[in-house]
Amino acid sequence: MKVPKTQRIYCPYCKKHTGHEVEVTKKKSRGKMRQGERRFRSKLKGYGSFPRPKPDFEKATKKVDLRYKCKVCGKKHTKGQGFRVKKFEIVKV
Ligand SMILES: [Zn+2]
Repeated sequence: MKVPKTQRIYCPYCKKHTGHEVEVTKKKSRGKMRQGERRFRSKLKGYGSFPRPKPDFEKATKKVDLRYKCKVCGKKHTKGQGFRVKKFEIVKV
């Protein structure tokens, strides 16, 4: 899947269509893990009640999470949730 680097889409902060830059979010480092993820990890180690089974296979594709940065107000927003694709690249137009 190819996505143009700059797109003209609706900005919910400016309440009109403006130029946006597309960014792919990177995975946060271990220290910045979300509370739920930390809780899940400690659960897998066996703390607390009966542990959940570990997932025994990895998914073939990774989820891509896009952020759109408005060029006018500089705020970032999303367009729905992340999606799964095999190939992903941002094309400069
Ligand atoms: Zn804006």
